[in-house]
Amino acid sequence: MASTDHPPVVHDLVGVGFGPSNLGLSIALAERRDQGRYPPLSAVFLERQEAFGWHRGMLIDDATMQVSFLKDLVTTRNPASDFSFLSFLHHVGRLHDFINHKTLFPLRQEFHDYLTWCAERVADQVRYGHEVVEVRPVYSGERVTHLDVVAENGAGEQAVLRARNVVFGSGLRPRMPEGVEQSARVWHNEYLLTRLGELAPKADPRSFVVVGAGQSAAEVADHLHQRFPRAQVHAVLSRYGYSPSDDSPFANRIFDPEAVDAFHRAPQEVKDQLTGYHRNTNYSVVDPDLIGELYRRHYAEKVHGDQRLHLHNTSRVAGLSESTEGVAVVVEDLVTGKQTPVPANYVVFATGYHPADARPLLGELADRVVTTPEGRPVVERDYRVATDDTLTCGLYLQGGTEHSHGVSASLLSNIATRVAEIIDSVATRAGAPAEERA
Ligand SMILES: Cc1cc2nc3c(=O)[nH]c(=O)nc-3n(C[C@H](O)[C@H](O)[C@H](O)COP(=O)(O)OP(=O)(O)OC[C@H]3O[C@@H](n4cnc5c(N)ncnc54)[C@H](O)[C@@H]3O)c2cc1C
Repeated sequence: MASTDHPPVVHDLVGVGFGPSNLGLSIALAERRDQGRYPPLSAVFLERQEAFGWHRGMLIDDATMQVSFLKDLVTTRNPASDFSFLSFLHHVGRLHDFINHKTLFPLRQEFHDYLTWCAERVADQVRYGHEVVEVRPVYSGERVTHLDVVAENGAGEQAVLRARNVVFGSGLRPRMPEGVEQSARVWHNEYLLTRLGELAPKADPRSFVVVGAGQSAAEVADHLHQRFPRAQVHAVLSRYGYSPSDDSPFANRIFDPEAVDAFHRAPQEVKDQLTGYHRNTNYSVVDPDLIGELYRRHYAEKVHGDQRLHLHNTSRVAGLSESTEGVAVVVEDLVTGKQTPVPANYVVFATGYHPADARPLLGELADRVVTTPEGRPVVERDYRVATDDTLTCGLYLQGGTEHSHGVSASLLSNIATRVAEIIDSVATRAGAPAEERA
């Protein structure tokens, strides 16, 4: 496919990554095609995983979604879609059971099953096992009219797809503290279940350290404490304690499409204020039920004089030295400066994620992206990256737009609406009349 005598096929859209964001986009495109809307838009998505997978390392058995099932991939855009979570439940024969459950928050595993069911139904649009390594400009005179998206498969073979528009939906990357590398005994929570699954069947770890104060950190501490009943679990957090996520109705409106409009229009200092005010809807916060459960367990162990869950609050990891035997961790109390050695078999850093940066893939094109004074890409309301006017093709971002579109940028909440906005933008530029909107 890399070189051919024939002119290459030109796709209207090539998607980088096939997580929930670009899966949502492929569904909206499929529905649009079924409805015969003009112009028809062709698309191919490239995904580096060998099969669909959504944060597999954190599919902890009893972990639930942090968002209502009504914010699935379609419902807020098209409540009649048969790609909804409710359609999935109907398909697998669990709709009544779910209704009786009276919850808005499915199990994470169940949502993964839903996403996989959706992905299988649009499989003709995806090439799995293809990692995008470069996006090259295609010139017509001085202008860049198309983009060649270069992907590599596991055998090192390259495929090149030509596109009028590229949509980056490449998600999040695990963040480790500076100077800390992952190893056989030191993991980011992204790989938790994968690494635990690799332990020898008779492995009997006796001590874990879990670093972090957010939802993932609390889930990991909870999971390890239950799964290894003979292990000490040391939670290390710089806060005074786990703090609840704000899921209250007025605050939740920050995830609504109208909030994206307001955020995008706002001056930078208002954007910064809003982000600060509403960080606790998502960052370094924990579901109140889980906080209650961890506290209950911690307290019961105190009563029974058998403490296995240890909370090192206002603390940080000040030292980490690994040997074949384990990891010697030094925990420092931020108030007193006192250092406590904590020997561990394994250390899990639940220290967050950062959005993947598309710019390293762009090569010489990166210089044509308009940036803010802070060096971040300027992204238009329709998620199109602002470039100099030599580019007539489109670069779109799904994710990595928190600075321009607000806190929902990396979440599921807005996917259904966002993908329609991207399709409208692409279709309008391709000559669609207003009534053909997604
Ligand atoms: C454990 C966990 C739980 C979460 N739970 C929730 C929740 O309950 N509610 C919520 O709203 N949000 C939640 N989130 C936030 C999360 O970001 C979204 O759920 C969702 O994953 C965003 O989808 P995405 O497609 O943008 O990114 P991702 O899901 O990260 O998908 C990106 C995809 O792109 C692929 N990729 C990356 N680079 C390349 C490349 N160069 N070439 C080819 N493929 C590439 C990756 O393999 C991946 O499949 C959670 C996050 C985590 C880590």
